[in-house]
Amino acid sequence: RKLGVVLVGLGNYATHQLGPALRETQHCRLVGVVTGDAAKGAQWARDYGFPASSIYDYDTMDRMADNPDIDIVYAVTPNALHAEHCIKAAQAGKHVVSEKPFTVSVAEADQVIAACQKQDVKLSLGYRLHFDPYHAELRRLAASEEFGPFARMDGNFSFVMRNPQWRAEHGLAGGGPLMDLGVYIIQAALMAAGEQPPVAVTAKSLHKSRPEFFKDVEETLEWTMEFPRGERCRGYTSYNDNGNQFRAEAAKGWYQVGPAFGYRGLKASTSARGELSFPPFNQQAAQMDDFALCVKENRESKVNGEMGRRDMCIIEAIYRAMASGRRELVRYA
Ligand code: NAD
Repeated sequence: RKLGVVLVGLGNYATHQLGPALRETQHCRLVGVVTGDAAKGAQWARDYGFPASSIYDYDTMDRMADNPDIDIVYAVTPNALHAEHCIKAAQAGKHVVSEKPFTVSVAEADQVIAACQKQDVKLSLGYRLHFDPYHAELRRLAASEEFGPFARMDGNFSFVMRNPQWRAEHGLAGGGPLMDLGVYIIQAALMAAGEQPPVAVTAKSLHKSRPEFFKDVEETLEWTMEFPRGERCRGYTSYNDNGNQFRAEAAKGWYQVGPAFGYRGLKASTSARGELSFPPFNQQAAQMDDFALCVKENRESKVNGEMGRRDMCIIEAIYRAMASGRRELVRYA
């Protein structure tokens, strides 16, 4: 049987990526939505063929417990609401997916992990690049040490934010582009470093061109991560620039991806083999199918709550370093 998925929050990513990708999955189907807009919910019910009784709002999520069609609840709301929506889903006895960033603090990550453990439901994250072939190649090169261990990494993920939105509000976003885009560079750097978490970070918030817009979040951030074997990664993320690339260098060669973090159209090259090309691939469908199989086969997702918590520890350390101007150790305990 295909597992029933409910999307919480019908914004851009749910509408243009996750909904259509669910149609491409082998092991999932959309069986309901959570939305504050009843008319939008009714339109989704017509488009995806689920009953009106499976349209919930944010205050009736507990009623999902009575709906046996629902197996998985996927939070696609602003960052600072992920924890609340994931906990409500777990309390309704459903398996949980949170979009990135997992939460906006380590404390919240702990609360979501505890709620899922208490209800004995599985927890996964919208870390779609773990299912992408170009990032699989990065992990393969890191593990095989074809060029030797990667020692220097560099990533940039930025876009120019033109319209005011929740991403520039600390209360809903939990931070600026680091939370939204920088998390992808952290993820790629960890892949290159063999998933050994960084020990220390430095960070600097750069000039704000629109301080009235980015009142309480950074507009542009530059940071470094130091890994246990001495590897280093420099990250750059901005809401006032364009960038989408990642490069990992080892003694005997390098691997570079750019665009590195998009949904499709990624490109990569290595010093040894020139340009690499993988067939078109639906990251979101692969990510959701993988979690459905984890649920069916009672396995942990490879992009689980612990990985999300680890990344929140790194993000918190980067914000501490940004505030103190000093090198900060990353605290995982
Ligand atoms: P969006 O603004 O388009 O959608 C957010 C949705 O949440 C809207 O439908 C909005 O109505 C709803 N919402 C519920 N309560 C809200 C509140 N109190 N304030 C504001 N909105 C509220 O945003 P999006 O781009 O779809 O992003 C949603 C989440 O998905 C974010 O966490 C983002 O980081 C993540 N995302 C992930 C990817 C990815 O590639 N994995 C891509 C885009 C977005």
